[in-house]
Amino acid sequence: MADKIDKADYQRRIDAMSEIFAGIAEKANVVSRERCPYRDRHDLCTAEFRCRNQLAATDEGIGCGHEGGFNYQDAWESNPLLIERAKKRIARDKERAAARRRARAERHEK
Ligand code: SF4
Repeated sequence: MADKIDKADYQRRIDAMSEIFAGIAEKANVVSRERCPYRDRHDLCTAEFRCRNQLAATDEGIGCGHEGGFNYQDAWESNPLLIERAKKRIARDKERAAARRRARAERHEK
């Protein structure tokens, strides 16, 4: 048969764990205000939305220009529909450019 649980000891352990987790949560809260969760270990932006902190795209990806001195979330674009609209516009522009190239190639063949 199991030993009886010492309620006072149990409560002390719960309190100690709560204190540990509160410290972890507080630290995570501070760090999350300084470093955007979309910034990867190479300091590239992995967000799939527009953010005014995004730098010009390179072969490596899109860099993050946030230096940690202000709230990075203020630069996030709040309308998630914009990315869908941008994707459609890019697809349409690619299609039009391909059509122009085909027409140009046909003119050169004649
Ligand atoms: S560019 Fe913006 S969204 Fe991307 S990692 Fe930096 S702060 Fe985050």
